[in-house]
Amino acid sequence: MKQITILKDNPKENFQQITNFIRSFLSDPSRAIMKTKSGKEFPLMRDVIFGVADATDPIFNKYKEVAHPKIWTPIEACQKKAAEEGWDSELSIKSVLVYILLHSREVIKSNLEDKAIPSEGWVLAKYKHELIFEELGEELSKILKAQGYFTCSPIHVKGYQIKKFKQSWNPTTKRIYASQFSVRHAAFAAGLGTFSLNEGFITDAGGIAHRIGVIVTELELPVTQRIHTNHQENCLWYRSEGKKCGDCVSKCPVNALKTEKYGHDKDICAGYVFGEMAPYSREHYGIPQYGCGKCQVGLPCTYKVPVTEDE
Ligand code: SF4
Ligand code: SF4
Repeated sequence: MKQITILKDNPKENFQQITNFIRSFLSDPSRAIMKTKSGKEFPLMRDVIFGVADATDPIFNKYKEVAHPKIWTPIEACQKKAAEEGWDSELSIKSVLVYILLHSREVIKSNLEDKAIPSEGWVLAKYKHELIFEELGEELSKILKAQGYFTCSPIHVKGYQIKKFKQSWNPTTKRIYASQFSVRHAAFAAGLGTFSLNEGFITDAGGIAHRIGVIVTELELPVTQRIHTNHQENCLWYRSEGKKCGDCVSKCPVNALKTEKYGHDKDICAGYVFGEMAPYSREHYGIPQYGCGKCQVGLPCTYKVPVTEDE
């Protein structure tokens, strides 16, 4: 595997080294290839894309208003992790590195086979991604900390969990399902795409079917410019002011989506995904993971930012 030797005052070169390291980590066949119970082999992903946000960007505080007040900024996540580990130097967190693993075509196609039940390939991909985020988070933290730069993976900080949080922006409900750190919000801050009608994240480089990893570090990395003026710009429904698309809505097997504001009913979605599909995956695939993803496959935004004929 590639090694990382941090160079002083050279954010560009350090970014290159870290992204090369991640690519090399992901290319190991034990991670790049997945094997289903029946012995069928799939590539896990078709590419990885990278973006960097400035950890001090005010947008991260803004998320406390527009997501929920208990969401951690990347700096807060690192402070918690540093306290957990007894790191005694003062922290100066600089960068939020976001890496997005685009699902392979095989994984996506497998989830088109049934309209309601997630495929074994889809659930296995999610399971493998979680392992990658954990291993890569640990590995990069170890390497960068050894060279003097505190680093953490926010979703592996103690106390992180998906649960119901109080919020004030959505008048249809008092509490929403969320977590203390949102990788999609980090990806928006890092200029990699925008949100969508179904509350997914449509990347500029490869559409909506993917998984997002985040590393926060004291190391300075070159910040990616955010080009989107609107946080839902990549979604055709919002861009056409509700005139075109909305295709994801009819894909939901439990009617958790509607073509209206606040149209993603997270209670219904979570009830299906956690309550029904997690036990299903354990029983039928032997995989301790939940999944669904029907609102991410077979759509104009599955692989790319959709455009209309007149655009
Ligand atoms: S299917 Fe259409 S409306 Fe739904 S997220 Fe994709 S672009 Fe937006
Ligand atoms: S993940 Fe599944 S249940 Fe949730 S909104 Fe999408 S299609 Fe519906």
